[in-house]
Amino acid sequence: MSSKGLVDTFGRQITYLRLSITDRCDLRCTYCMPERMTFLPKKEVLDLEELYALARGFMDRGIRKIRLTGGEPLVRKDAVDLVRAIGRHVGSELDELTLTTNGTQLAQHAVALADAGVRRINVSLDTLDRDVFAGLARRDALPQVLGGIAAAKAAGLKIKINTVALKGVNEHTIPALIEWAHGEGHDITLIETMPLGVVDEDRTDRFLPLSKVRKELEARWTLETSEHRTGGPSRYFKVRETGGLLGLITPMTENFCAGCNRIRVTTTGQLYPCLGGGERVDLRAALRSDSPEARLEAALDQAMSIKPERHNFRIGAGEAPAVERHMSMTGG
Ligand code: SAM
Ligand code: SF4
Repeated sequence: MSSKGLVDTFGRQITYLRLSITDRCDLRCTYCMPERMTFLPKKEVLDLEELYALARGFMDRGIRKIRLTGGEPLVRKDAVDLVRAIGRHVGSELDELTLTTNGTQLAQHAVALADAGVRRINVSLDTLDRDVFAGLARRDALPQVLGGIAAAKAAGLKIKINTVALKGVNEHTIPALIEWAHGEGHDITLIETMPLGVVDEDRTDRFLPLSKVRKELEARWTLETSEHRTGGPSRYFKVRETGGLLGLITPMTENFCAGCNRIRVTTTGQLYPCLGGGERVDLRAALRSDSPEARLEAALDQAMSIKPERHNFRIGAGEAPAVERHMSMTGG
């Protein structure tokens, strides 16, 4: 592999890979997937060796941060083995290995993750109200998730909570969640729901602009603009009264594509240069070919040539999702 960096046609340097390692999940969040979700046959999914080879190939091309995601990454049986293998590169080729999880399996794995070189994780949690959680995730798993978060904290992992804001669903429970997160020493980021994949409900009914949430929070607390940046799309505020950081991700109401440094690879090895576009390059075909290194190299160059300037999400009554893939496929 060459050591050429990944730079797209708009001059953006790509240093951050989000790698989905399974499309399966033990929850069924209403905005993410339908109750009766069809999962991929196993042979379609990259195996442990292929995932590691991909990660190595990306590191050779200048990827410095890898986030494992899914589906739920920790429901994959060899997830921790993969974390151990990639984790060996933290501190040399990689600045960071992290993951996004729903927290249900964290109690079993938190110590192993910390030992393997993970320092920070994102945990998705939309509410602290058990009934609202059970309705939203279609599983009564809040106590399990809170146990997982506590175990991760005890293992020394830094935790960021991610919360999708939904009108009339968890809207009224957001301030309590922020207060709890900050009290526990976790940062928290609110996210607008995005039109990814067909789900069982109309997203127009549930879309809650964060500009509205922000106004309501400002009636309660003092939000001070913070210079904190993670290289991602989040804008941060310090909540003076709680002392914690609050991030807002507003894909639908403000565009943040100019500073994009990331690409995504699905669990079947499809590289999507943009979460909000249909462009893709097949890395699995490259990996399973006779000359995997050369084919992977060419595939990554191709991905750079087709990364779009910006996403084209729109949300509106009766509109089909801008992107047919579910978030659980591309990886959040
Ligand atoms: N299962 C893990 C979890 O929930 O953290 C990782 C995968 S999940 C697809 C990653 C993130 O995407 C979660 O924070 C989830 O809330 C978010 N997400 C899923 N579907 C979404 C949608 N349609 N709009 C906005 N965020 C979404
Ligand atoms: Fe599973 Fe995460 Fe999607 Fe919820 S958001 S259904 S936890 S993949």
